[in-house]
Amino acid sequence: MPKTKIDPWDFHDIEDYRNLFSEFGIGSFEKFRSKLSMNRYIRRGIIFGHRDFDRIMDAIENKKPFVMMTGLMPSGRFHFGHKMVADQIVFYQKMGADIFVCSADIEAYCVRGISLEIAREIAINEYLVNYVALGLNLNKTNFWFQSNYVVPYYRFRDMLSKRVTLNELKGIYGDISPGKIISVLTQSADILHPQLEEFGGPKPTIVPVGADQDPHIRLTRDLAIRFQSEFRLMQPSATYHKFMRGLQGGKMSSSDPKSYIALSDKPKGAIKKIMNAKTGGRATVDEQRDMGGVPERCTVYDLLFYHLIDNDKELMNIYEECKSGELICGECKAKCVDIMIKFLDKHQKRMEKAKTLVNEYLSKNGYN
Ligand code: SF4
Repeated sequence: MPKTKIDPWDFHDIEDYRNLFSEFGIGSFEKFRSKLSMNRYIRRGIIFGHRDFDRIMDAIENKKPFVMMTGLMPSGRFHFGHKMVADQIVFYQKMGADIFVCSADIEAYCVRGISLEIAREIAINEYLVNYVALGLNLNKTNFWFQSNYVVPYYRFRDMLSKRVTLNELKGIYGDISPGKIISVLTQSADILHPQLEEFGGPKPTIVPVGADQDPHIRLTRDLAIRFQSEFRLMQPSATYHKFMRGLQGGKMSSSDPKSYIALSDKPKGAIKKIMNAKTGGRATVDEQRDMGGVPERCTVYDLLFYHLIDNDKELMNIYEECKSGELICGECKAKCVDIMIKFLDKHQKRMEKAKTLVNEYLSKNGYN
């Protein structure tokens, strides 16, 4: 039995990501790092693991068709934790992927008790608007609501139930309810249906996820094999990324506004959150000058590392100055605030333009 428990509905912290390599057979992403070093998350090891990424690399290098699929959970405001996946969608679109994005509104309804109307509103105004502001070309994206899609998708989802047992689902997810079963099968259909004949047939598919989503990936890969004779599906590939910690040091969660900065936060609110964020600093300035800080434990450093500073040399300077005690937290937070405010200002102007594009897209596709 693996020692590390991963449960997509109750994920706290996976202490040692390396365990995942040995316990669950996730491969190290190291060998792709130099080839895709233009991507900050790959270059900095934030994307640390994969399953079958070789076939995606081959598709990128040889300009073969491939799909990038991801789902959004419409349950709260779009924050910097979500931005990581949005940036990856934009990245794969630039790499030539056919993008499939779904709003997991059935899962939000069945598992989280969110009404379909609210889920729809969040998916559009929080997620789609931010995706477009971050660079997604929605007109080249296949977007759908789990609650409102096409017949081949629903037929396929229902067929998936034939080759999975209740005991198997209990083994993977522990406590399982009818709502969770529907969510699990819908999610597998989300990932696999771009390979149905109606969508152009079998092709490599990449799904970027946090490690907590690996149970879904494993089940979906197994289902792809179990339906070989009927659909000739390729097993989907996956990449695994580390999570950003919340600003108070625990989990970053949409249900805890102090743990995140939303991309639509007003400057005043964002400044307050950064000033109150947990750092890796020492108890006094003297101590910090003496012993240096610990950026590895600092959530302000996380913001810089994941999102705000793309230049590696600039980031390394901050890391070294923190370690040596040359930089103290007050100065460092002021720097982070400065970069954050500039980012939010630019991004929120883009969001205004994005709203029009999203509305046009929804009307054109019969969603308005
Ligand atoms: S100096 Fe900056 S990176 Fe170092 S612990 Fe303080 S806030 Fe974090």
